[in-house]
This record gives sequence, structure tokens and C-alpha cells, in this order.
Amino acid sequence: MNFSQLRAHFKITVWASVFATVAQIAPAQADETKVVVTIKPIHALVTEVMAGVGTPTLIVDGSASPHTFTLKPSSAKAINEAHIFIRVSEGLEPFTRKVVTALPKDVALLSLSEAKGVTLLDQREGGDFEEHADHGGHDHGHAHHGHGKKKTNHVEDAAAKDSHIWLDPENAKAIVVAVTSALSERYPESAEKFNTNAATTLQKLDALRAELTSELLALKGKPFIVFHDATQYFEKSFGLTASGSITLSPDVQPSAKRLTAVRKKIAKLGAVCVFAEPGFQPKLVAAVTEGSQSRSGSLDAEGLMQPPGSNHYYEMMRSLARSIKTCLQPVS
Ligand SMILES: [Zn+2]
Repeated sequence: MNFSQLRAHFKITVWASVFATVAQIAPAQADETKVVVTIKPIHALVTEVMAGVGTPTLIVDGSASPHTFTLKPSSAKAINEAHIFIRVSEGLEPFTRKVVTALPKDVALLSLSEAKGVTLLDQREGGDFEEHADHGGHDHGHAHHGHGKKKTNHVEDAAAKDSHIWLDPENAKAIVVAVTSALSERYPESAEKFNTNAATTLQKLDALRAELTSELLALKGKPFIVFHDATQYFEKSFGLTASGSITLSPDVQPSAKRLTAVRKKIAKLGAVCVFAEPGFQPKLVAAVTEGSQSRSGSLDAEGLMQPPGSNHYYEMMRSLARSIKTCLQPVS
């Protein structure tokens, strides 16, 4: 070993001992929580409550839709090894049905659509709201939630509830409270921290509600149509009203007959705006609004296009408000 090798060796040794010291301190700070959450908006709220204690694992990442998601073996393993598994409902996340049936006894399951204080709305159907498409294998779309259709045999779905509950800030608050109580039960040593975090989150949700209420005030009563009927919680919270829905699959070109029917409907309802969702080809949206005065926009009710993390919920809600405002009341 020459001098420089010796010096390099010495450096490595010194660093190695520094790391060893850090590693000895580390266990007190280690994340020993095992909390697994299905979708981004819920994951965001859980992340806020858990701040400083641990980080929850997200299952439906990227731009994948929870309605058509298929569970990877690694994610199934994470759910089976979790301390707490948090989802919205079987109707919203059909991929959870199987894994929940065989869930080990020591995994606490929190289905938020059943949580105390959460307001559940009936799925809109009839009138100008079209039937939700079935979960057919052919349908890669997102415009279906299979909440009570004949072909699906979900017992839980019989009531045909709309599970996009998080889009109402009051429901988000109830979710925070339910999550805080589940976390505190499993990790009592961190209960105080969870409660402090939850109090901050509840304040932020109130502020968000006030912010969006004033932002959307001028848009009351302006008719619009949605592709993915997911936004009624948002509409109810902020005084908006969709006048109808269109059931289309994002990647299947509708027939000429269907297009004509859809265009007639848009004209009849006098929709200022027609909202598609992420995943729909602009060409398809253009074909639907062709020949009408309606503008087109996109609504991302699951925040699929937003990065996950503690800010996701707020960003998703603001982005929804911005999309609605831009389309219904464009700046001239
Ligand atoms: Zn949806």
C-alpha cells in the first residue's frame, strides 16, 4: 500500500465509523409505520397526519385510474404486510375486493366511504345523467365506477353510491379525523403528534374551502357536461351544477350515431363547457363539441396528473377549480 492508497484507506475508515455512529443514532428516527393507501388524494391527507412519524405507501401511482387498476404482486404483498390499509370503497377501487377478502387478521382495514362523518351521495342517474358503463374487460375507460350495475355482483354496490367523497372538503375533514383515530390506535406513542398534525390539516382544509368558494362564486348556474361523473361532491360544495353526463370510453372512437346523439344533447342542455378527463384524446373531445358553441376542458377528479405527496390534495382541488373557471368563464 503506497501513501495515497493508505490515505484513501484511512478516509474510508473514518467515514465508515461516522456512518456507523449515524446508524446507531438512526433507529430512534426510523419509520416503523406500515400504512398503505390506495389513491393519491387520500394518501396526501394521510401523509399530512403522519408527518414527522412515518410515510405512507401509495398503491395507485402515476396516472393510473383507480377504477381500472390491477394490483401488482408487490403491492398485494405490501397490503398484506401493512399495519393499516386505507381505501375509499370497493366500488371506487374494485382491485381491492380480492385482497380485502383474504386480508390477514392483524391488518386494520379502513374503508373511508363508511367512516363516521363522511357524507355519501347517491350516484347520479336518470335525466341527463347517463348510466355508468360496466366494468367490461374491453373498457379501459374511466367513465365507469360499476357501483351497482347488473353485470357486477358487488353486494356493497347495491346502494349505488358515488364514492368520490374526497372532493367535498367537509368529507376530507371527516377522513382526516378517521385516519387520525386509526393511526393513534395502532401507534399510541405518536398519538399526540398525529393530533397536532390533524389540527393543522383541518385548518388548511377550512382555508381551502373558503378560497375556492370565493373563486367559484361567479360560476353558479353555468351549465356544463362531464364525461366522468365524479365531481358532484365538488359541485355541491361550491354551488356548481353539472347538467348532464356523457358516457364514452377514452380510447374507443364512438360511432357516428352515438356522436350525433351526444352533440344533440350538448345543444339541448346549452352547455357552456364539456369536460373530459385525463386520458381522453383531444380529438375525441373535439369531435363531441364539433358544431356547438361549447368549449372543452378537462377535469382530473382523482388528481392523476398531480405528483403525490402532502400537497397533492390542495393542488388537485385548486386545479379542478382552475379548470372549471377557465372553461366556464374564459379570460377574454
Ligand atoms: Zn373516478
